[in-house]
Amino acid sequence: MSALRQLLKSVFTAAFPQSWLMTHGPHASVSEQKEIALTFDDGPHPEHTPRLLDVLAAAGAKGTFFVIGEKTLRHPKLVRRIADEGHELGNHTWTHSEPSQTSAGRFLEEVAQTRQMIQNLTGRDCRLMRPPKGALTVGKTLGLWRRQQTIALWNSDPKDFAMKDEAELLRWLDGYRPRTGDIVLLHDNHPRAAIAVERLKCNDLRFVTMSEWLDRAGPQKQTRAVHPGEQEVANVR
Ligand SMILES: [Zn+2]
Repeated sequence: MSALRQLLKSVFTAAFPQSWLMTHGPHASVSEQKEIALTFDDGPHPEHTPRLLDVLAAAGAKGTFFVIGEKTLRHPKLVRRIADEGHELGNHTWTHSEPSQTSAGRFLEEVAQTRQMIQNLTGRDCRLMRPPKGALTVGKTLGLWRRQQTIALWNSDPKDFAMKDEAELLRWLDGYRPRTGDIVLLHDNHPRAAIAVERLKCNDLRFVTMSEWLDRAGPQKQTRAVHPGEQEVANVR
């Protein structure tokens, strides 16, 4: 992420409540363990997602899956399994179209189509939306907020999709120092997400869904986590 994008992300995060824009969770855990949110984008994948679900179950971990609509059409049973096993489903558009070549209108249509598909498959509405590449425009942002969608970004990105081998992932994991509130971006259309969970579970962490953090703040008062020197913003939605 460029320095400019990082700066803009910080400014936006400081300005809006968590239920509008989430880039990290609360910095205080409810237990002795550190809490992080593992998020998995670009699935479901017929081979890697089931393997990842097995690993999450063995670790007693919950995650948040940002699925691509057209893939949910091909793998509906996997979507149901994700929901049935207590994980959260998020919206990652219908086709994962390139943001710079997708109008706000087309983007919002894709979001609506995917949201409906998730609702049809699981019986639950989907409130989290992660734009491909985290890229948004003013029009797309306002459109999501009008539709009561929480823009769900991340603060920890190993870029697992671009890693050339498992050793590279293990090097990243060795250097990663989890902090409560971290939202880690992984991809379940690659085999490495399962390897990452296997390794991370050794750290005595509690793995939560992003909505667990939002729910904890309460429906009426979903204020974002506040760093020293930052202004707290009340939820006015
Ligand atoms: Zn993606």
